[in-house]
Amino acid sequence: MGRYTEASCKLCRREGEKLFLKGARCLTEKCAVEKRAYAPGQHGQTAGRRRKASQYSRQLREKQKVKRIYGLTEQQFRNTFQRVLREEGVTGENLLIALESRLDNVVYRLGFAASRKAARQLVSHGHVVVNGRRVDVPSYVLRPGDEVRVAKGSRELESVAAALDLASKGQTVSWIAVDREARTGKITERPSRVTIPVAAEEQLIVELYSK
Ligand code: SF4
Repeated sequence: MGRYTEASCKLCRREGEKLFLKGARCLTEKCAVEKRAYAPGQHGQTAGRRRKASQYSRQLREKQKVKRIYGLTEQQFRNTFQRVLREEGVTGENLLIALESRLDNVVYRLGFAASRKAARQLVSHGHVVVNGRRVDVPSYVLRPGDEVRVAKGSRELESVAAALDLASKGQTVSWIAVDREARTGKITERPSRVTIPVAAEEQLIVELYSK
């Protein structure tokens, strides 16, 4: 567990911003970005000052950041990108919409889990039901109208109650409706760029993968 804490926080420090990978801890003064706002490693405090970032390194950093926010491997991230390439519209926006529409992300957005990693665990351990059917695939793609709930026998899980308590202090996204008491939620509309609260320059990722 200790190793995981360090690894997650290192990712944020590497990107130079809070990626909110640790749930409640991210909102406290224990947050590593708050304590040490420079990249990890021997040269962390001077690396950023030495040279101006090239366009390639900006593209790479943006891709790494978004990939880490959603907790995907390189292959999973690239597969998602390849999938949205076939869709109509703006590729960068479609990429973010695809990432937001994953079941693990929606479980996190609904407040049933304190982080996307915890949401992934909740789903893969069979605690989540979609449209009345248990789904244990974190990458499952949700669409408007889909209903997501914590499975009947799992509603009293302490981790879910703690996550909901944490979520009640923040804001949820506008494209989902949640009934925290009943542990249920619904996708009310397709997310769009303006309703996805992720600070990213997704066009840089498109440029990187289009080389
Ligand atoms: Fe760690 Fe969360 Fe802070 Fe990131 S935002 S450094 S994961 S505590």
